Amino acid sequence: MRLRNITGSRDVIAASPYVVQEAVQEDCPGTWHEIFGNNHPIYIEIGMGKGKFIHTCAKEHPEINYVGIEKYSSVLLRAIQKMEEEELPNLKFLRMDAEDIASVFGKGEVDKIYLNFSDPWPKDRHAKRRLPSREFLARYDVILKEGARLEFKTDNRDLFDFAVEELEPAGWKAEVITYDLHSDETLMVGNIMTEYEEKFSSMGNPICKYIIYR
Ligand code: SAM
Repeated sequence: MRLRNITGSRDVIAASPYVVQEAVQEDCPGTWHEIFGNNHPIYIEIGMGKGKFIHTCAKEHPEINYVGIEKYSSVLLRAIQKMEEEELPNLKFLRMDAEDIASVFGKGEVDKIYLNFSDPWPKDRHAKRRLPSREFLARYDVILKEGARLEFKTDNRDLFDFAVEELEPAGWKAEVITYDLHSDETLMVGNIMTEYEEKFSSMGNPICKYIIYR
């Protein structure tokens, strides 16, 4: 998702109490429980877009701390605006490229990772930029607690097939794989729709999902 550049979005982000600022990020590994002021588990969404999913998660689960990560200021701005309308103490944002994720969270500090409707990067030469690629799985391996889960949803079948093929070489295993999430009553219990999920499922696209661990 890329929105038109919004003048002043960087200034809003720099002043926002909901955003962990870039200058502070290098001191973050190992300090997330201090940042939230409690010992609750830490769940992160990488590529959160405008933050609909993670904001809903945080509202429904006050016993969990959430961190939403987004590369683009103009997109993050929308998530900040949502927080201004409805402030939640258990949700923080990071504006960063997830390539550097292992320098922001400590080893095993994260209890769950969500990837929702990640950019497909369809050209083979860009495969390393795909968020479920083996290169990214290696970064998640560092920050995700032993035995913890990563959940990925998309309507893009090519990206999903690629993601499933990446699991074995990267040393991950699938607990759940579905090619039609919305037809699976059990998996739909507690499912929180993302902005893209609402859009693409309403167009009739089946939603693929996996839950993986290592
Ligand atoms: N997760 C949301 C949803 O399901 O509605 C948004 C999906 S949108 C297609 C993907 C988002 O991921 C975009 O906002 C994009 O800027 C962000 N993104 C892509 N690559 C990223 C990266 N390397 N680091 C951080 N954010 C990234």
